[in-house]
Amino acid sequence: MTELLEKQASPRPAARESRAEATPGEPAHLELAAVSLRYGEVRALENVSLRVPRGSIVALIGANGAGKSSSLRAITGLRKVAAGEVRLEGRVINSRDTQEPTHALVRQGVAMVPEGRHVFPYMSIKDNLLMGAYTRRDKAGIATDLERVCERFPRLKERFHQHGSSLSGGEQQMVAIGRALMAKPRLLLLDEPSLGIAPQVIRLIGRSLLEINRKDGITVVLVEQNSRMALALSSYAYVLETGRVALEGPSKELMTNEHVKRLYLGG
Ligand code: ATP
Repeated sequence: MTELLEKQASPRPAARESRAEATPGEPAHLELAAVSLRYGEVRALENVSLRVPRGSIVALIGANGAGKSSSLRAITGLRKVAAGEVRLEGRVINSRDTQEPTHALVRQGVAMVPEGRHVFPYMSIKDNLLMGAYTRRDKAGIATDLERVCERFPRLKERFHQHGSSLSGGEQQMVAIGRALMAKPRLLLLDEPSLGIAPQVIRLIGRSLLEINRKDGITVVLVEQNSRMALALSSYAYVLETGRVALEGPSKELMTNEHVKRLYLGG
């Protein structure tokens, strides 16, 4: 799948490699340092550390209840961490003493594509996309970005004035990604983008994510139960098991790891 995706995404490998590497001394785009997160007595994350270099695609995989969504809640400030720190470009955004509100993160270049997509059913595709630009005032830039989203997902252009409710699951996912791009993010967080989507549309979404990363230089954090897709797209991945990082490494290596193959790639 990687090769297929790479061929179709008209890659620029050299640029990709250089962006994926962290410059020495430069803070990671996003970092979790020994983060623990609780829901009352439930320990959802225990001492989780992960690093997302600027310009990379990093995957977070794991089974149901492993702590993937909780990691995103820690990053987006939806839940205060019990211990440790979340840092965005070196600045603490969630710790015992700090909890940056979610809406403030949008202005700092963070956009989220939530699980379940949350497309507004009675709004047109165009208005759904424009919702993503609600913090922006640059009208000309918004119009250009709307055009770019339509070039990236031509199907949305065809259905520009239709209601969100009339779309297939895959098309809704395109709207959700397009809406996040309308915020002009530097960091894109995606929660299970492949959920409930047909395989050929998953490939299309995958290609789009590679393009978004390579052509636009947007850092991507991909939370997925579809480990095959996540490892194919990412350069580095973390495997979460019962709230802890059980394994981490370059995605290519994890693909051939026996534990990962047995538990997450169907043997
Ligand atoms: P899934 O893929 O099923 O969404 P996940 O990997 O995203 O799973 P989390 O949703 O982060 O896992 O859940 C981690 C742990 O925290 C689980 O044991 C879950 O039951 C628990 N949990 C999650 N949300 C809450 C909540 N609001 N209240 C109490 N426990 C919760």
